[in-house]
Amino acid sequence: MDQSLRVWEDTLEHLRDRLDADTFERYIASIVPLSFDPNKRIMKLGVLNDFVALWLESNYKLIITESLMAVLDGEVEVELESGYAAQTPENKTKTLPEKDTDNREKPCRYRPDFTFDNFVVGNNNRVCVAASQGVCKNPGKGYNPLFIYGGVGLGKTHLLQAIANEVASRRKRVRIEYVSSEEFVNYYIEALCNKTLPSFRRRFRSLDLLLIDDVQFFEGKVGSCEEFFHTFNTLHNAHKQIVLASDRTPADISGLEKRLVSRFEWGLSAEILPPNLETRVAILKKKQEKQSIQFDDEILFLIASKIQSNIRNLEGALTKLVMNVSAFGYEMTKDRAVELLQDRFDTAASRVLTTEQIQRHVAEFYDIRLSDMTSKKRPRNIAFPRMVAMYLSRKLTNQSFPAIGDAFSRNHATIVHAVSTIEDRMAGDEKLAQTLALLSRQLEKS
Ligand code: ADP
Ligand code: MG
Repeated sequence: MDQSLRVWEDTLEHLRDRLDADTFERYIASIVPLSFDPNKRIMKLGVLNDFVALWLESNYKLIITESLMAVLDGEVEVELESGYAAQTPENKTKTLPEKDTDNREKPCRYRPDFTFDNFVVGNNNRVCVAASQGVCKNPGKGYNPLFIYGGVGLGKTHLLQAIANEVASRRKRVRIEYVSSEEFVNYYIEALCNKTLPSFRRRFRSLDLLLIDDVQFFEGKVGSCEEFFHTFNTLHNAHKQIVLASDRTPADISGLEKRLVSRFEWGLSAEILPPNLETRVAILKKKQEKQSIQFDDEILFLIASKIQSNIRNLEGALTKLVMNVSAFGYEMTKDRAVELLQDRFDTAASRVLTTEQIQRHVAEFYDIRLSDMTSKKRPRNIAFPRMVAMYLSRKLTNQSFPAIGDAFSRNHATIVHAVSTIEDRMAGDEKLAQTLALLSRQLEKS
């Protein structure tokens, strides 16, 4: 028997004891041992695709390594390689698995762990979740399209993929594509170059569910937008479901054709907001359910109170603590957590700025009154600092244009206009660019 296979089978026994059955079946059972190099002590493992590799890398690589080390009695390094499908039991013992090229070309586009079960519902995302679940119950019959927008790391991709996972599990033969707008653009260009437009169109126009992530990257891609416009119409006319996600509202994606914007607004647009403290703690609890190391509430509250608006950073902080505990085996205390996460807290501070703090600071800097930020007065000595504050609010907080508009008693179009005006001026005015860099630095330190 191949050595890597024997080692792996022993390791599986170990892992089976340490993980719950569900996790084991879902993530571990499908791993295939590729080779073991006894000199370098490197174990190569094959997994289905890049998504699975990433997921294992960040969640189970440690525990896999630990089990391998127990079996092999010493240091081992694990390397994951994607593009391998699990073998059937009959041929498992006979041959080393071959690279599953078919899987490489058509990788599973979404992560198995991005499900509704793993998504914590809070006031910040309740509407989005309800709408997403509505879409799963009745694809193409309710909100169409569903447009989800909100800041970075707030769960848009997770929700889109939860819809994909859910619809796929409900119906057997359902055609789903999940792509980012960038990928759509790339596939389109590829099809143009290879003269394979008909098959590109078949692929996207015969779907039951199309999910396009990060729609803002369509900005200015005229040809692809045209193509997408027709894809959209075909699917919509056939009552097929379309779900879109973006970091801003359809109207705020500048350089997007009016007719596409208006179509995006046909269905439901729902905003996903930064979660409050309780929801952040709940998310951390959810994340650590699946990990081998659990922290008590004190530590979770500490992380959640210092990292406020980007959930990806929240998770990153948790992972860092887990890594440290499993690498050094010590007890995690609040002090140690603060020490380990200090740099992350600092950078996170920039994201917890409020619009009001920004208004106050900019007003002081330009020597105008705070009330001028929200007043209707228009002399240039007031209007300009106000635009600066609008611009900085967009850059330094994770808030949407409408929310910033509210803070300035303006509509969101005014904010969009202010941001692009300041950007334009900065491009031709080095001094202004420096002033804004200075203001940003001061605010981030405040
Ligand atoms: P976005 O696409 O909005 O930038 P993602 O969907 O990639 O954000 O989310 C970033 C990370 O935060 C993911 O790991 C996701 O699982 C997690 N996350 C976001 N919101 C939640 C939530 N409500 N419950 C659990 N995990 C969440
Ligand atoms: Mg995303």
